[in-house]
Amino acid sequence: MNKQCINCKSYKVIDEAGGFCRWSDKKKRTVRQDWPQVQSDNVCDHWVDCGQNYYVRLGWLQAQKKKKQ
Ligand code: SF4
Repeated sequence: MNKQCINCKSYKVIDEAGGFCRWSDKKKRTVRQDWPQVQSDNVCDHWVDCGQNYYVRLGWLQAQKKKKQ
């Protein structure tokens, strides 16, 4: 599996296109509004595998897509 934000432990999904990166939050302890937004297919040197959460995220995105239809 490719390293991408969508399968990174620090990622907080918003929608199919992207989400928040919480990595900086852990370091600076800032509030959610200050988390930088990233695209789901981005990646950086701080990537850490999120394991099964990746499939949970995909399922959640699929459910959101169905709701809109
Ligand atoms: S920018 Fe880096 S640390 Fe943040 S979610 Fe993406 S890969 Fe993870």
